[in-house]
Amino acid sequence: MAEIVIRNVAKRFGSFTALHSIDLTITDQEFMVLLGASGCGKTTLLRIIAGLETPSEGEVWIGGRRVDHLPPRERGIAMVFQNYAVFPHLTVFENIAFGLRMKKLPQAEIDKRVNRTAELMHIEQLLKRYSGQLSGGQRQRVAVARALAMEPDVILMDEPLSNLDALLRLEMRAELKGVLADSKTTTIYVTHDQVEAMSLADRISVMNGGKIVQAASPVEVYRNPAARFVGSFIGNPPMNFLPARRGADGQWQVAGLSLSGPATRDTLDFAIRPEDVEIASEGFRATARVIEPLGAHTLVTTEVDGKLFRAVLDSDLKVAPGDELRLAPKSDRIRWFDPETTLAV
Ligand code: ATP
Repeated sequence: MAEIVIRNVAKRFGSFTALHSIDLTITDQEFMVLLGASGCGKTTLLRIIAGLETPSEGEVWIGGRRVDHLPPRERGIAMVFQNYAVFPHLTVFENIAFGLRMKKLPQAEIDKRVNRTAELMHIEQLLKRYSGQLSGGQRQRVAVARALAMEPDVILMDEPLSNLDALLRLEMRAELKGVLADSKTTTIYVTHDQVEAMSLADRISVMNGGKIVQAASPVEVYRNPAARFVGSFIGNPPMNFLPARRGADGQWQVAGLSLSGPATRDTLDFAIRPEDVEIASEGFRATARVIEPLGAHTLVTTEVDGKLFRAVLDSDLKVAPGDELRLAPKSDRIRWFDPETTLAV
Protein backbone atom coordinates (compact mmCIF):
# COMPACT_ATOMS: atom_id res chain seq x y z
CA MET A 1 0.00 0.00 0.00
CA ALA A 2 1.52 3.32 -0.98
CA GLU A 3 -0.92 6.12 -0.59
CA ILE A 4 0.83 9.49 -0.71
CA VAL A 5 -0.50 12.32 1.40
CA ILE A 6 0.76 15.86 0.97
CA ARG A 7 -0.46 17.98 3.81
CA ASN A 8 -0.22 21.76 3.81
CA VAL A 9 3.12 21.75 1.98
CA ALA A 10 4.63 25.15 1.22
CA LYS A 11 8.01 25.99 -0.27
CA ARG A 12 9.77 29.32 -0.22
CA PHE A 13 13.04 30.20 -1.89
CA GLY A 14 14.07 33.36 -0.05
CA SER A 15 11.19 35.79 -0.45
CA PHE A 16 9.73 33.85 -3.38
CA THR A 17 6.93 31.37 -2.67
CA ALA A 18 7.13 28.46 -5.14
CA LEU A 19 4.36 26.41 -3.46
CA HIS A 20 1.42 27.71 -1.42
CA SER A 21 0.08 25.22 1.11
CA ILE A 22 -0.57 22.22 -1.11
CA ASP A 23 -2.98 19.52 0.03
CA LEU A 24 -3.20 16.42 -2.12
CA THR A 25 -3.81 12.72 -1.59
CA ILE A 26 -2.68 10.24 -4.22
CA THR A 27 -4.32 6.88 -3.65
CA ASP A 28 -2.51 3.55 -3.73
CA GLN A 29 -1.63 2.54 -7.33
CA GLU A 30 -3.02 5.73 -8.75
CA PHE A 31 -1.39 7.43 -11.74
CA MET A 32 -1.35 11.12 -10.84
CA VAL A 33 -0.11 13.72 -13.30
CA LEU A 34 1.06 17.15 -12.15
CA LEU A 35 0.31 19.45 -15.08
CA GLY A 36 1.04 23.13 -15.50
CA ALA A 37 3.02 25.76 -17.35
CA SER A 38 6.74 26.26 -16.80
CA GLY A 39 7.49 27.66 -13.36
CA CYS A 40 4.19 26.64 -11.69
CA GLY A 41 5.97 24.49 -9.11
CA LYS A 42 5.49 20.93 -10.44
CA THR A 43 9.13 19.93 -10.19
CA THR A 44 9.49 21.51 -6.76
CA LEU A 45 6.53 19.49 -5.47
CA LEU A 46 7.94 16.28 -6.96
CA ARG A 47 11.36 16.97 -5.45
CA ILE A 48 9.78 17.50 -2.05
CA ILE A 49 8.03 14.13 -2.31
CA ALA A 50 11.30 12.56 -3.42
CA GLY A 51 13.25 14.12 -0.57
CA LEU A 52 15.54 16.16 -2.81
CA GLU A 53 14.06 19.36 -1.45
CA THR A 54 12.84 20.18 2.08
CA PRO A 55 9.41 21.77 2.45
CA SER A 56 9.28 25.11 4.29
CA GLU A 57 6.06 23.88 5.89
CA GLY A 58 3.86 20.81 5.89
CA GLU A 59 4.11 17.05 5.86
CA VAL A 60 4.62 14.28 3.34
CA TRP A 61 3.33 10.78 4.10
CA ILE A 62 4.01 7.67 2.00
CA GLY A 63 2.26 4.40 2.82
CA GLY A 64 1.18 5.62 6.25
CA ARG A 65 4.69 6.77 7.22
CA ARG A 66 5.70 10.38 7.64
CA VAL A 67 8.73 10.78 5.35
CA ASP A 68 9.51 14.47 5.11
CA HIS A 69 12.51 14.11 7.42
CA LEU A 70 13.82 10.94 5.76
CA PRO A 71 16.50 10.88 3.05
CA PRO A 72 15.34 9.84 -0.46
CA ARG A 73 16.65 6.26 -0.19
CA GLU A 74 14.48 5.56 2.85
CA ARG A 75 11.24 6.63 1.17
CA GLY A 76 10.58 3.54 -0.97
CA ILE A 77 10.55 5.53 -4.20
CA ALA A 78 12.23 5.33 -7.60
CA MET A 79 12.72 8.31 -9.87
CA VAL A 80 12.95 8.87 -13.60
CA PHE A 81 14.03 12.32 -14.66
CA GLN A 82 14.12 14.29 -17.86
CA ASN A 83 17.85 13.73 -18.39
CA TYR A 84 17.40 10.12 -17.21
CA ALA A 85 20.92 9.86 -15.79
CA VAL A 86 21.87 6.61 -17.49
CA PHE A 87 25.58 5.88 -16.98
CA PRO A 88 27.24 5.71 -20.43
CA HIS A 89 30.23 3.67 -19.19
CA LEU A 90 28.01 0.89 -17.87
CA THR A 91 26.18 -1.73 -19.91
CA VAL A 92 22.41 -1.68 -20.05
CA PHE A 93 22.41 -4.66 -17.70
CA GLU A 94 24.58 -2.87 -15.15
CA ASN A 95 22.54 0.31 -15.46
CA ILE A 96 19.34 -1.55 -14.63
CA ALA A 97 21.13 -3.51 -11.89
CA PHE A 98 22.64 -0.37 -10.35
CA GLY A 99 20.13 0.23 -7.56
CA LEU A 100 19.80 -3.49 -6.88
CA ARG A 101 23.55 -3.80 -6.29
CA MET A 102 23.41 -0.81 -3.94
CA LYS A 103 20.75 -2.72 -2.01
CA LYS A 104 23.12 -5.71 -1.99
CA LEU A 105 20.56 -8.11 -3.44
CA PRO A 106 21.83 -11.62 -4.31
CA GLN A 107 23.06 -12.05 -7.89
CA ALA A 108 20.27 -14.49 -8.78
CA GLU A 109 17.65 -11.95 -7.73
CA ILE A 110 19.42 -9.20 -9.68
CA ASP A 111 19.52 -11.39 -12.81
CA LYS A 112 15.85 -12.18 -12.46
CA ARG A 113 14.73 -8.59 -12.01
CA VAL A 114 16.97 -7.14 -14.73
CA ASN A 115 15.80 -9.73 -17.25
CA ARG A 116 12.17 -9.27 -16.38
CA THR A 117 12.12 -5.48 -16.55
CA ALA A 118 14.27 -5.47 -19.71
CA GLU A 119 11.73 -7.73 -21.33
CA LEU A 120 8.90 -5.51 -20.16
CA MET A 121 10.56 -2.47 -21.74
CA HIS A 122 11.57 -4.41 -24.91
CA ILE A 123 15.30 -3.90 -24.43
CA GLU A 124 16.31 -7.46 -23.60
CA GLN A 125 18.42 -7.64 -26.77
CA LEU A 126 20.41 -4.58 -25.63
CA LEU A 127 21.55 -5.80 -22.21
CA LYS A 128 25.22 -6.17 -23.20
CA ARG A 129 25.50 -2.83 -24.95
CA TYR A 130 27.02 0.23 -23.35
CA SER A 131 24.45 2.90 -22.73
CA GLY A 132 26.57 5.43 -24.61
CA GLN A 133 25.74 3.44 -27.75
CA LEU A 134 21.98 3.76 -27.41
CA SER A 135 19.44 6.06 -29.01
CA GLY A 136 17.55 8.54 -26.86
CA GLY A 137 14.47 6.34 -26.83
CA GLN A 138 16.46 3.27 -25.81
CA ARG A 139 18.19 5.19 -23.01
CA GLN A 140 14.79 6.32 -21.85
CA ARG A 141 13.64 2.71 -21.65
CA VAL A 142 16.72 1.81 -19.65
CA ALA A 143 15.90 4.56 -17.15
CA VAL A 144 12.36 3.30 -16.75
CA ALA A 145 13.53 -0.33 -16.47
CA ARG A 146 16.01 0.69 -13.78
CA ALA A 147 13.22 2.34 -11.80
CA LEU A 148 10.87 -0.64 -12.21
CA ALA A 149 13.57 -3.15 -11.24
CA MET A 150 13.66 -1.60 -7.78
CA GLU A 151 10.03 -2.72 -7.39
CA PRO A 152 9.27 0.54 -5.65
CA ASP A 153 5.96 1.40 -4.06
CA VAL A 154 6.18 4.79 -5.71
CA ILE A 155 7.62 5.98 -9.02
CA LEU A 156 8.19 9.68 -9.56
CA MET A 157 8.72 10.86 -13.13
CA ASP A 158 9.66 14.35 -14.25
CA GLU A 159 9.04 14.94 -17.96
CA PRO A 160 10.55 11.55 -18.76
CA LEU A 161 9.58 11.66 -22.44
CA SER A 162 10.56 15.23 -23.20
CA ASN A 163 13.77 14.37 -25.05
CA LEU A 164 12.13 12.02 -27.50
CA ASP A 165 10.89 12.81 -30.99
CA ALA A 166 7.13 13.01 -31.49
CA LEU A 167 6.56 9.49 -32.79
CA LEU A 168 8.69 7.80 -30.15
CA ARG A 169 7.01 9.86 -27.48
CA LEU A 170 3.65 8.57 -28.59
CA GLU A 171 4.89 4.98 -28.57
CA MET A 172 6.58 5.27 -25.18
CA ARG A 173 3.52 6.94 -23.72
CA ALA A 174 1.32 3.99 -24.60
CA GLU A 175 3.93 1.53 -23.33
CA LEU A 176 4.45 3.35 -20.06
CA LYS A 177 0.76 3.37 -19.42
CA GLY A 178 0.54 -0.39 -19.91
CA VAL A 179 3.66 -1.20 -17.90
CA LEU A 180 2.76 1.01 -14.96
CA ALA A 181 -0.81 -0.25 -14.86
CA ASP A 182 0.59 -3.78 -14.45
CA SER A 183 3.25 -2.85 -11.91
CA LYS A 184 0.95 -1.87 -9.01
CA THR A 185 3.05 1.19 -8.18
CA THR A 186 1.73 4.58 -7.28
CA THR A 187 2.97 7.01 -9.93
CA ILE A 188 3.40 10.76 -9.92
CA TYR A 189 4.26 12.14 -13.32
CA VAL A 190 5.20 15.73 -14.09
CA THR A 191 4.53 17.22 -17.50
CA HIS A 192 3.57 20.49 -19.16
CA ASP A 193 2.07 18.56 -22.08
CA GLN A 194 -1.69 18.39 -21.68
CA VAL A 195 -2.16 15.61 -24.23
CA GLU A 196 0.32 13.44 -22.35
CA ALA A 197 -1.46 14.28 -19.11
CA MET A 198 -4.90 13.44 -20.48
CA SER A 199 -3.77 10.17 -22.00
CA LEU A 200 -1.82 8.83 -19.01
CA ALA A 201 -3.54 10.04 -15.88
CA ASP A 202 -6.10 8.52 -13.57
CA ARG A 203 -6.24 12.02 -12.16
CA ILE A 204 -4.61 15.29 -13.18
CA SER A 205 -3.58 17.99 -10.72
CA VAL A 206 -3.62 21.20 -12.69
CA MET A 207 -1.17 23.65 -11.16
CA ASN A 208 -0.84 27.40 -11.54
CA GLY A 209 1.33 29.84 -9.62
CA GLY A 210 2.34 27.34 -6.92
CA LYS A 211 -1.22 26.13 -6.27
CA ILE A 212 -3.30 23.16 -7.32
CA VAL A 213 -6.28 24.63 -9.13
CA GLN A 214 -8.06 21.33 -9.72
CA ALA A 215 -7.36 17.65 -9.10
CA ALA A 216 -9.75 15.40 -10.98
CA SER A 217 -10.04 12.82 -13.76
CA PRO A 218 -9.03 13.90 -17.27
CA VAL A 219 -12.66 13.94 -18.42
CA GLU A 220 -13.69 16.00 -15.40
CA VAL A 221 -11.00 18.66 -15.83
CA TYR A 222 -11.89 18.86 -19.50
CA ARG A 223 -15.67 18.96 -19.12
CA ASN A 224 -15.97 20.77 -15.82
CA PRO A 225 -12.97 23.05 -15.29
CA ALA A 226 -12.94 24.35 -11.72
CA ALA A 227 -11.56 27.69 -12.87
CA ARG A 228 -11.12 29.70 -16.05
CA PHE A 229 -7.43 28.88 -16.01
CA VAL A 230 -8.16 25.16 -16.38
CA GLY A 231 -10.57 25.77 -19.27
CA SER A 232 -8.01 27.81 -21.14
CA PHE A 233 -4.97 25.67 -20.27
CA ILE A 234 -6.56 22.32 -21.15
CA GLY A 235 -7.93 21.74 -24.62
CA ASN A 236 -6.48 22.72 -27.95
CA PRO A 237 -7.99 25.02 -29.01
CA PRO A 238 -8.96 26.23 -25.53
CA MET A 239 -12.42 27.08 -24.21
CA ASN A 240 -14.19 30.17 -25.53
CA PHE A 241 -15.24 32.83 -23.04
CA LEU A 242 -17.74 35.66 -23.48
CA PRO A 243 -18.97 38.21 -20.93
CA ALA A 244 -22.57 37.71 -19.78
CA ARG A 245 -24.97 40.16 -18.13
CA ARG A 246 -28.19 39.25 -16.35
CA GLY A 247 -31.26 40.95 -17.80
CA ALA A 248 -34.41 42.11 -15.99
CA ASP A 249 -36.11 38.82 -16.95
CA GLY A 250 -33.38 36.84 -15.14
CA GLN A 251 -31.99 35.47 -18.40
CA TRP A 252 -28.29 35.89 -19.28
CA GLN A 253 -27.48 38.11 -22.25
CA VAL A 254 -24.44 36.76 -24.07
CA ALA A 255 -23.41 38.43 -27.35
CA GLY A 256 -27.03 38.88 -28.42
CA LEU A 257 -28.29 35.48 -27.18
CA SER A 258 -30.58 35.03 -24.22
CA LEU A 259 -29.55 31.99 -22.12
CA SER A 260 -30.56 30.42 -18.83
CA GLY A 261 -27.88 30.26 -16.19
CA PRO A 262 -27.19 30.38 -12.46
CA ALA A 263 -28.64 33.37 -10.57
CA THR A 264 -25.58 34.17 -8.49
CA ARG A 265 -24.67 37.71 -9.49
CA ASP A 266 -25.19 40.25 -12.26
CA THR A 267 -22.21 39.46 -14.42
CA LEU A 268 -20.60 36.14 -15.27
CA ASP A 269 -18.31 34.73 -17.91
CA PHE A 270 -20.02 32.36 -20.28
CA ALA A 271 -17.81 29.50 -21.51
CA ILE A 272 -18.09 26.81 -24.15
CA ARG A 273 -15.63 24.41 -25.78
CA PRO A 274 -15.07 24.96 -29.55
CA GLU A 275 -16.48 21.51 -30.35
CA ASP A 276 -19.65 22.19 -28.37
CA VAL A 277 -21.15 24.68 -30.81
CA GLU A 278 -23.14 23.93 -33.93
CA ILE A 279 -24.47 25.83 -36.89
CA ALA A 280 -28.08 26.79 -36.13
CA SER A 281 -30.37 29.73 -36.86
CA GLU A 282 -30.55 30.70 -33.16
CA GLY A 283 -26.87 31.26 -32.49
CA PHE A 284 -24.13 33.83 -31.94
CA ARG A 285 -23.49 36.03 -34.97
CA ALA A 286 -19.96 35.05 -35.86
CA THR A 287 -17.72 36.37 -38.62
CA ALA A 288 -15.32 33.74 -39.92
CA ARG A 289 -11.71 34.96 -39.91
CA VAL A 290 -9.44 31.94 -40.31
CA ILE A 291 -10.40 28.52 -41.65
CA GLU A 292 -8.15 25.56 -40.83
CA PRO A 293 -9.17 22.19 -42.31
CA LEU A 294 -7.79 19.51 -39.97
CA GLY A 295 -9.09 16.46 -41.82
CA ALA A 296 -11.59 15.06 -39.33
CA HIS A 297 -12.89 18.56 -38.57
CA THR A 298 -12.46 22.15 -39.60
CA LEU A 299 -11.32 24.69 -37.05
CA VAL A 300 -12.96 28.04 -37.72
CA THR A 301 -11.70 31.09 -35.85
CA THR A 302 -14.42 33.69 -35.76
CA GLU A 303 -15.23 36.99 -34.15
CA VAL A 304 -18.29 37.17 -31.92
CA ASP A 305 -19.16 40.59 -30.55
CA GLY A 306 -15.57 41.72 -31.11
CA LYS A 307 -14.13 38.69 -29.27
CA LEU A 308 -12.14 35.77 -30.62
CA PHE A 309 -14.35 32.67 -30.74
CA ARG A 310 -13.34 29.28 -32.10
CA ALA A 311 -15.55 26.55 -33.43
CA VAL A 312 -14.69 22.99 -34.42
CA LEU A 313 -17.10 22.22 -37.24
CA ASP A 314 -17.87 19.47 -39.72
CA SER A 315 -15.19 19.24 -42.40
CA ASP A 316 -17.89 19.19 -45.10
CA LEU A 317 -18.93 22.71 -44.18
CA LYS A 318 -18.22 25.27 -46.91
CA VAL A 319 -16.99 28.41 -45.24
CA ALA A 320 -14.67 31.24 -46.29
CA PRO A 321 -13.10 34.16 -44.42
CA GLY A 322 -15.65 36.97 -44.04
CA ASP A 323 -18.68 34.64 -44.05
CA GLU A 324 -21.33 35.26 -41.42
CA LEU A 325 -22.19 32.15 -39.38
CA ARG A 326 -24.70 31.45 -36.63
CA LEU A 327 -23.07 29.38 -33.88
CA ALA A 328 -25.32 27.89 -31.21
CA PRO A 329 -23.78 26.55 -27.97
CA LYS A 330 -25.04 23.11 -26.87
CA SER A 331 -26.96 24.01 -23.74
CA ASP A 332 -25.75 21.06 -21.61
CA ARG A 333 -22.13 21.99 -22.34
CA ILE A 334 -22.28 25.64 -21.28
CA ARG A 335 -20.17 26.53 -18.22
CA TRP A 336 -20.17 29.72 -16.14
CA PHE A 337 -17.32 31.42 -14.28
CA ASP A 338 -17.23 34.19 -11.73
CA PRO A 339 -15.32 37.06 -13.41
CA GLU A 340 -13.79 38.16 -10.09
CA THR A 341 -12.68 34.89 -8.52
CA THR A 342 -12.41 33.18 -11.98
CA LEU A 343 -13.86 30.06 -10.33
CA ALA A 344 -16.66 27.96 -11.83
CA VAL A 345 -20.16 28.70 -10.53
P1 ATP B 1 9.39 23.63 -15.47
O1 ATP B 1 8.35 22.91 -16.23
O2 ATP B 1 9.96 24.80 -16.20
O3 ATP B 1 10.44 22.75 -14.85
P2 ATP B 1 8.05 23.76 -12.90
O4 ATP B 1 6.58 23.95 -12.87
O5 ATP B 1 8.56 22.40 -12.67
O6 ATP B 1 8.62 24.35 -14.24
P3 ATP B 1 9.65 24.50 -10.65
O7 ATP B 1 10.92 23.98 -11.21
O8 ATP B 1 8.98 23.73 -9.61
O9 ATP B 1 8.63 24.76 -11.84
O10 ATP B 1 9.90 25.99 -10.14
C1 ATP B 1 8.87 26.73 -9.54
C2 ATP B 1 9.39 28.13 -9.26
O11 ATP B 1 10.36 28.09 -8.21
C3 ATP B 1 10.06 28.78 -10.45
O12 ATP B 1 9.70 30.13 -10.48
C4 ATP B 1 11.54 28.61 -10.15
O13 ATP B 1 12.28 29.66 -10.72
C5 ATP B 1 11.57 28.66 -8.64
N1 ATP B 1 12.69 27.85 -8.10
C6 ATP B 1 12.86 26.52 -8.24
N2 ATP B 1 13.97 26.09 -7.61
C7 ATP B 1 14.54 27.20 -7.07
C8 ATP B 1 15.71 27.44 -6.26
N3 ATP B 1 16.52 26.44 -5.91
N4 ATP B 1 15.96 28.71 -5.87
C9 ATP B 1 15.12 29.72 -6.21
N5 ATP B 1 14.01 29.56 -6.95
C10 ATP B 1 13.71 28.33 -7.37
